[in-house]
Amino acid sequence: MADRPIERGLADRLVSAVAELGGGVPVDLDRVANALGVSAIVRAPMIEDGRTTWEGGRPRIELRDDRPAERTRFTLAHEIGHILIARDQTVARRTRDLHADDVETLCDWIAASILMPRRWVAGYAGRDQYNLSLLRLVAHRADASMSAAAVRLAEVGNRTCVLLRWQRSPTRWLVVGQAAVPREYAGNLQATPETNTILDQLPNRRDSWREVTLGIFGDDVSLLATAHADRIGSTCVSLLTALSPS
Ligand SMILES: [Zn+2]
Repeated sequence: MADRPIERGLADRLVSAVAELGGGVPVDLDRVANALGVSAIVRAPMIEDGRTTWEGGRPRIELRDDRPAERTRFTLAHEIGHILIARDQTVARRTRDLHADDVETLCDWIAASILMPRRWVAGYAGRDQYNLSLLRLVAHRADASMSAAAVRLAEVGNRTCVLLRWQRSPTRWLVVGQAAVPREYAGNLQATPETNTILDQLPNRRDSWREVTLGIFGDDVSLLATAHADRIGSTCVSLLTALSPS
């Protein structure tokens, strides 16, 4: 899905219709929901992060009540995505045949687009250098997660902006979170022995650049990456600004 510009175009088109409703960045999602006729936004104990139901033609959003605020905000934007799709008959028709997972991915794109409008994020996406400071800045200003900011910067800037979160296990560094990973590598990146050593030797709490290699599960190919990394004890966050087969 990440490679299908048609759906990406759909997300942009849908979001452009509500771009003015949120009143600047950080976007006021309650205002957007209200303008779209949402009857209520209810926080409740539930298994999934969010859900939209329709009553008498009006959407009602439920949000899981025990998730972090930042996550809940993204989920609310995602549910607004479902509403935008349902309200647009052309898009609703075109998405009818999509796999459910693809609709969810589309709603994640819409969510990131709502939280970080193209016109607003374009200035950041055009910077010469992507780094962790830029990612933190965009995330902070938009009241979004660093993961969402990475996805949006990658998309709008049309550049590599892969965010990997690492956790040191007793034996090696494990990828425990990822965002904006190219589809062909998604879920399959792992540290090579050399990269384990590099991550172990990173200074604590100080962003630094490293050239690292990454392996792919079940494949002999290894990738070369330029990483801006910040290690905090046994966790690490890294932003890859280049990623290519070595
Ligand atoms: Zn959904």
